[in-house]
Amino acid sequence: MAAHTVGGEVDAFCTRCKLQLAHTILAMVGSKIARVRCNTCGGDHAFRSTPARTRAPSQPRASHERVIISFEQQLAGKDVSKAARYSPKSAYQVEQLIDHPTFGLGIVMTVREDKIDVVFKAAEKTLVHRRADAAPRPAFHPPTPPPAEPE
Ligand SMILES: [Zn+2]
Repeated sequence: MAAHTVGGEVDAFCTRCKLQLAHTILAMVGSKIARVRCNTCGGDHAFRSTPARTRAPSQPRASHERVIISFEQQLAGKDVSKAARYSPKSAYQVEQLIDHPTFGLGIVMTVREDKIDVVFKAAEKTLVHRRADAAPRPAFHPPTPPPAEPE
């Protein structure tokens, strides 16, 4: 760890900008930085390496929060009775609400050529759509095809 000196630069929390920013060291007490000047706003203040108030502990992991909160919020603005039953043969649009037999209600986030990214309550899934040109099969076809009939 390089020793700090007066006139040198250090990253510190600016009490005015409320951000971690580059500061110029104004005063040292022993080996510790006492006062700094914010390079952004020019304000002098006591050195603080970290914000005085840390973020509220109620915030969950960012990635988890992104999916759950956005899903709940977006679902709140939609008429769930109009959710389209998911079928790989249908074409879907961004922000469309769909009803998937396994995953439940989902919101279409991205539409690609033959795939859609859908946010469900539990997870984000990539599904196929626009498979209308696929061989038509009844929805209740058996999972394994019957053996080929002899000539
Ligand atoms: Zn500042």
